[in-house]
Amino acid sequence: MRKKVIAGNWKMNKVLAEANQFVDEVASKVPETDQVEAIVCAPFPYLSSLVEQTNGTKLKVAAQNMHFDDNGAYTGEVSPVMLKDLGVSHVVIGHSERREFFAETDETVNKKTHAAFNHGLTPIVCVGETLEQREANETMTLVGTQVEKAIEGLSDEQIAETIVAYEPVWAIGTGKTASSEDANEVCAHIRQVIKKATSETIAEKVVIQYGGSVKPANVEELLSQSDIDGALVGGASLEAESFLQLVEAGTK
Ligand code: PGA
Repeated sequence: MRKKVIAGNWKMNKVLAEANQFVDEVASKVPETDQVEAIVCAPFPYLSSLVEQTNGTKLKVAAQNMHFDDNGAYTGEVSPVMLKDLGVSHVVIGHSERREFFAETDETVNKKTHAAFNHGLTPIVCVGETLEQREANETMTLVGTQVEKAIEGLSDEQIAETIVAYEPVWAIGTGKTASSEDANEVCAHIRQVIKKATSETIAEKVVIQYGGSVKPANVEELLSQSDIDGALVGGASLEAESFLQLVEAGTK
């Protein structure tokens, strides 16, 4: 059985004291089971402090983005080498907010996914359609292409380790969640696309998360679906208690 992965994406929120307080409240309470993995995706300036704070606990620390090159003249960017050096374990790649506001493309997502594996970081690769694309019936084709391009050139072992987050753009931060059946249908399609690119054995190993207005009230229903193996959560991950409830749901 695949483990459940609950990742809290703080986006551009919290100051350091708040980040530390959150981890203080959460880290020791993450269940001691391999059934569920809990990750906080924090802003760059806090990563070092949070990695130190979570040392010896089950809570993992992720970055929300990175550059694909190891180093170079890219003012303001952060490289995979730097993240690895800090002890970060995961990195979010291609979040729709980065695709929309920071010119992230399927090509840079692919480069970043390769870079993550080259430096021993686990990528959480985000895909998802806009409302316009959903209404035009383009969801499956678009999401399928995003996944195919993201994993292009990776080894089967790397693909098996990739976490894919299906996040319909219209459901992010809007309070509108995709119905669990609709979300599962797209996640199952993603698994088919991965199966075509690799094999059934590999595709069955891939953790596919749903994201978009996930909260304690709807998480169990989403996680009960056949192809939803976790959640990437924004708003409801900012409070310790709510985040812990989401993680707890992953053990059921
Ligand atoms: P949300 O954000 O849970 O606030 O909708 C999800 C995300 O963007 O990862």
